[in-house]
Amino acid sequence: MPSRPQSEKFPAGLPCGDSLFSEGGMAALRAAAEERLSEPMGVWKKRVLARNLIGVLGPAIESMLQAAGLPVHLRSVSAVRITRGVREYGSCNIPRANDSECRLAFSGHLFFTGNADALLDVVAHELLHACLPSREGHGTLFHQGMTILNDTLGLHIEVHTEKSAIRQSETLYRYKVVCAACGNTFYYLRAGAVVKHPSRYRCAKCGKNAFEIYRITDVEKGKNGR
Ligand SMILES: [Zn+2]
Ligand SMILES: [Zn+2]
Repeated sequence: MPSRPQSEKFPAGLPCGDSLFSEGGMAALRAAAEERLSEPMGVWKKRVLARNLIGVLGPAIESMLQAAGLPVHLRSVSAVRITRGVREYGSCNIPRANDSECRLAFSGHLFFTGNADALLDVVAHELLHACLPSREGHGTLFHQGMTILNDTLGLHIEVHTEKSAIRQSETLYRYKVVCAACGNTFYYLRAGAVVKHPSRYRCAKCGKNAFEIYRITDVEKGKNGR
């Protein structure tokens, strides 16, 4: 994939550079990201947002780690991919033949309203990999870097992002469980106990035993698609 022109590195409208370290800088970045997530996004828009966040956070992360004395250097990001994965929210691939670049990938499911915090954390996690030696993995340096970034930038980077931390669109789920009494609604990826035996469960909200199960068909997924 061709690399993007430099001009995209510091996109207008997103706080960047030193302003990120000022009070409210990261909050402003979060708010700007959340605003973009609140609109329906196709793969192209998701990739633009990912690239913008990389352009803003990358240099900040690199200088923060260097200031703390870690021997790091941010590789150039040669490609950004949006995946359909649900098990892995992000990845950083460093080609064996060229240690000066990396390819980042992010799950498309991150790009959904309410996920700005999680998206920033996952982007920062992969950028941390992009700064560290290729064989580091989630080793000592990774943990040190993670602590530094969480403390200084107010992030919540984790080694493994909890699935529950990510809000996902309905399009991902296969079952919808609705309490007929109060409207309380849940979504499930798989036909677990509640989906199979709804009569055994009571609604946590209203206490009634009135769950209705809907299978989210591909047709509905298309209709509700965001
Ligand atoms: Zn990782
Ligand atoms: Zn209920």
